[in-house]
Amino acid sequence: MSRVLVVGAGQSGFQAVASLRVLGFDGQVVLAGDEPGVPYQRPPLSKAYLAGTAGLEQLHLRDADFFAENDIELVEARVESIDRGASKVRLEDGRELDYDHLVLATGARNRTLPVPGADLPGVLTLRTRDDADRLRASLEEAGDVVVVGGGFIGLEFAAHAGRPVTIVEAQDRLLNRVATPEISAYFARLHRDAGHTVLLGQGVTALHGDERVREVELSDGTRLPADLVVIAVGVVPETALAEKAGLPVNNGVVVDAQLRTADPKVFAIGDCANFPCLWADAAIRLESVQNAVDQARCVAAAITGAGEPYDSLPWFWTDQAGAKLQIAGILAGADRTVVAGDPAAGKFSVLSFRDDVLIAVESVNRPADHIAARRLFTADPKPAYADLEASAFDLRAHLKSRAA
Ligand code: FAD
Repeated sequence: MSRVLVVGAGQSGFQAVASLRVLGFDGQVVLAGDEPGVPYQRPPLSKAYLAGTAGLEQLHLRDADFFAENDIELVEARVESIDRGASKVRLEDGRELDYDHLVLATGARNRTLPVPGADLPGVLTLRTRDDADRLRASLEEAGDVVVVGGGFIGLEFAAHAGRPVTIVEAQDRLLNRVATPEISAYFARLHRDAGHTVLLGQGVTALHGDERVREVELSDGTRLPADLVVIAVGVVPETALAEKAGLPVNNGVVVDAQLRTADPKVFAIGDCANFPCLWADAAIRLESVQNAVDQARCVAAAITGAGEPYDSLPWFWTDQAGAKLQIAGILAGADRTVVAGDPAAGKFSVLSFRDDVLIAVESVNRPADHIAARRLFTADPKPAYADLEASAFDLRAHLKSRAA
């Protein structure tokens, strides 16, 4: 009987095994993961779970019965190495598992801050449920909280920490890597209005303390008092297994359009995979639930049938300080932006174009725009600047005019 072994029981690993059964795969399905318990989702960790308004059961992707009912074997262990010649993996406890297809769904780990004092007690990060539990407990006792990094995770933490914090960002705007300047400015204002201090263009050069962290030193010499410091400066893909097994790695495990590595028996999906993205016209890595789920489905289809190249539209969401930001498309190389709606009223969308073709739409509190954008992106031809201008950049009106 054919056996699929999935390494990494996070968002994409879970989806891969679930989709295999949905598609009627009747061989053995094994999901090996190094975190305890059933697979869980990460988005609430920096939102409702952190704020204490969602419990453990709301994190779980499925309960234990689901795995039993679908004959999916959960193996709670770290996979140490892959023997591609023998088509088997070795677990940390020395056990070996065979495979016919191997799916690497190993995710990413948080980047560390390479400065003195970064290992002091009171300096924490956020990736796992254990991290979130530690942060929740620390928040109850902490006086001054400093968040290093103004990306999605740092800002979500600030928004759900339940108290004013100081956000330190080395770039000259928040969300620098992932959003347009219009969105950055809006969220900076929102967080300041919520009582947070936002410091831009300031690197962290050292963390000072004794038995725990006491101060954060900035590049201009300022020292901020801190007894809890959250480091949120991005992630690095978890590629050690692939590297050791001699598979090509370049900012992630390198895969082809069907998400296969250089070894046709081995796939990589989710945060750990570097794939040729149609929407970016380049090989990239994406860190989102959409990408994790859709890549898992794509690989399950490839294992159970002919499979298609992965071409799903990237989309993303974040909830912060009462605002829901939804992004459709990929911003890379945008050369023109248009703001539709009213930022002052907290409801607007930013349309980004490259060579006069729409490439991304960021919507703040305008879910209907986001849905319209997703439908427009997957329609042919792609929406052009002139066409959208003729609809006064109203995405829903433009969609209707196309349908007419
Ligand atoms: P993961 O979910 O990280 O799973 C990888 C798993 O593999 C982990 O459990 C890891 O421990 C395990 N593993 C690694 N190596 C091994 C090994 N050798 N052996 C066994 N197991 C191993 N995305 C959104 O779209 N919207 C959001 O609002 C959002 N919020 C987020 C909030 C937080 C706090 C975080 C951390 C992420 C958030 N994301 C969000 C991103 C999203 O959760 C990730 O993109 C998604 O989890 C990626 O899924 P994955 O399966 O690739 O990796």
